[in-house]
Amino acid sequence: MIRLKEVCKSFGNLEVLKNICLHVREGEKVTIIGPSGSGKSTLIRCINGLEEPTDGDVLLNGELLTHHSRTYLVRSYCAMVFQQFNLYPHMSVLANITLAPVKLQKKSRAQAEEIAYHYLDVVGLRDKAAAYPATLSGGQQQRIAIARALATKQKILLFDEPTSALDPEMVQEVLDVMIRLSRESITMVVVTHEMGFARQVADRVIFMDNGVLVEEGPPAEFFEHPKNERTSVFLSKILR
Ligand code: ADP
Ligand code: MG
Repeated sequence: MIRLKEVCKSFGNLEVLKNICLHVREGEKVTIIGPSGSGKSTLIRCINGLEEPTDGDVLLNGELLTHHSRTYLVRSYCAMVFQQFNLYPHMSVLANITLAPVKLQKKSRAQAEEIAYHYLDVVGLRDKAAAYPATLSGGQQQRIAIARALATKQKILLFDEPTSALDPEMVQEVLDVMIRLSRESITMVVVTHEMGFARQVADRVIFMDNGVLVEEGPPAEFFEHPKNERTSVFLSKILR
C-alpha cells in the first residue's frame, strides 16, 4: 500500500532522510518511534506529499508519486492527523469535517453530513457538530481531527504524534479512538511515543534515528529484545 524506495531528503546541507526503504502492507498498523529531529515527521510528510524527496521513490498503491501525480494520489489514498490538530478555527466542527468530502470529493452536502455524523459517533462527539474548535478541549479537538480524517474514507491514515500536544488527562481518550480504529482494515502509520498504544495496536514498531530506519519488529519482540544498541538506549530513556 505504501512503498518507499531509497528515499532521501535534504534541507540544504542537512540530510534528514538517508536511503529509507519501507513497505507497509494494506491494513497494516505501523508505529514509528525515535528521538526528536530523527526525521519522523519528514518521513511521514514525504508519504503524504507535503515534502518532495530529494531522491528515491514513494509509491502509493503501486502508483509513483511524482510532481504531477502527487496531489491526485495523496488525495486518493491518504489522510493525516497532526500534532496540533490543525482544525479550521473559523469553521464549525461539521463544516471542518464536510469540507474535503464536499470540495474535493464532490459529495453532496447531505451525503457529506451523513458521513460526518457517522464519524462523530465513532469519536463520541456528535453533540459538538455545531461547536467551534476554540470551545473544545484539546482532546476533543484531536478527536474531531480524527473524525475529519476518517470522513475522507481514505485507505491510509497517517498520524504525527497525535497525543503529544495534549494535557496528560486527555491522552487516553484520543488513544482509545485510535485503538478502536485499529480494528478496521485501514492502513495506519503512527508516529508516537505512546508505548502502550504501540504494544496494543502495532503489527510492527520501527525505530528511526538520525535519518535511518535502525530496527523494526513486532512489538513484543521489539520492546523485550531490541537488537540494536541505539534502540536499547532510546527505549531505556522513554520507558523509564
Ligand atoms: P522529527 O519529527 O523526528 O522530530 P523532523 O522530520 O521534524 O524530525 O526533522 C528532522 C530534521 O530536519 C530536523 O533537524 C529539522 O530541524 C529538519 N527540518 C525539518 N523540516 C525542515 C525544513 N522545512 N527546513 C529545514 N530543516 C527542516
Ligand atoms: Mg516530528
